[in-house]
Amino acid sequence: MNKFGFTLSVPRVIDYDKNDRSVADLIAAKEPTFRLCIECGTCAATCTAGNFTDFSLREINVLLRRGENEAAAEKINRCMLCGKCILVCPRGVNTRNVLFIARETLSKTNGHERL
Ligand code: SF4
Ligand code: SF4
Repeated sequence: MNKFGFTLSVPRVIDYDKNDRSVADLIAAKEPTFRLCIECGTCAATCTAGNFTDFSLREINVLLRRGENEAAAEKINRCMLCGKCILVCPRGVNTRNVLFIARETLSKTNGHERL
């Protein structure tokens, strides 16, 4: 078989049938400001943990909102809960509380099980 030097790439789509948005719904119920996030990345730019690792709160928010909890659970413990991100968020998201609730919830399910 001829090889042409390229392959079909796996599509990167959001599968809402497979993804589990129950964690995001629970966070929003406990901390309604979670819904105000516009994924601007200001928090990630100032993040203490982001200075030393590839941690990004913006990415965590996106993963949680998409229902990709397993990927969020792998990274979320890098946050040091310092609270710097609250000071810079232009939308007034209580980011520290969002992270706290998300960590607590994901640690119970390890990102695998539905709530
Ligand atoms: S700074 Fe606020 S609005 Fe922007 S990505 Fe972070 S949490 Fe969302
Ligand atoms: S609370 Fe977490 S996400 Fe926010 S600035 Fe501190 S280390 Fe970064």
